[in-house]
Amino acid sequence: MKLSISFLAKLLILQYLSVQCLSDDFDFFYFVQQWPGAYCDSKQSCCYPKTGKPTADFGIHGLWPNYNDGSWPSNCDPDSTFDKSEISELISSMEKSWPSLSCPSSNGIRFWSHEWEKHGTCAESELGQREYFEAALKLKEKVNLLQILKNAEIQPDDEFYSIESIKDAIKEGSGFTPGIECNRDSRGNSQLYQVYMCVDTSGSDFIECPVSPRSKCGSDIQFPKF
Ligand code: AMP
Ligand code: AMP
Repeated sequence: MKLSISFLAKLLILQYLSVQCLSDDFDFFYFVQQWPGAYCDSKQSCCYPKTGKPTADFGIHGLWPNYNDGSWPSNCDPDSTFDKSEISELISSMEKSWPSLSCPSSNGIRFWSHEWEKHGTCAESELGQREYFEAALKLKEKVNLLQILKNAEIQPDDEFYSIESIKDAIKEGSGFTPGIECNRDSRGNSQLYQVYMCVDTSGSDFIECPVSPRSKCGSDIQFPKF
């Protein structure tokens, strides 16, 4: 009797572990867009991709699986490496909408493979590699952040804007409240760095955020030129 109970307990533990390991379930995505002017203005500086200076527009940083409790999974499947051939038809759109700005100068492959391996592999229950990158590109087309902000007379002109006016403009233009992440430039100014919007697990529709990302912004933030 003793033996069979411990056997059963072991079986239950094994089953629990296999469910934990195999399930890459998550609750929602953060779709994170980045203002290149803020990335380049910070102390880390930046390097333009080999294709030249990106257009002055928000670029995609990533599509990140998250949990409702504020935590997130990462690097979920070491066997699923980035495969450039899967996204060959998307490369020109990716170069435009998902530019790499880190140094040394890169054609983007390094950045995209990092994003796939760290974040994308945690959404494999929903999206394959091509679908994952395609979903992010389509989301960017759905909300033209720069235009939405311009409509509210908020422009990348080195001026300071209240964080509330930025959030309100995006809420007005997209229907959803964004999260805003700031960085500091070398003079210590708080700048508009990244805009977080929440997306359902299929990667296709925006939703209200179940939990807001951390912000670290002052009440007035600079929208730097690029
Ligand atoms: P930070 O500490 O803001 O510089 O974030 C560094 C990295 O942590 C980001 O680039 C993401 O890869 C990761 N990260 C931060 N917050 C989240 C989140 N809510 N979901 C997924 N990854 C995140
Ligand atoms: P997180 O780990 O998504 O997924 O991203 C954090 C890493 O991405 C850090 O090493 C950042 O320096 C880098 N990163 C953030 N934005 C960019 C960008 N536009 N181009 C290249 N690397 C970036």
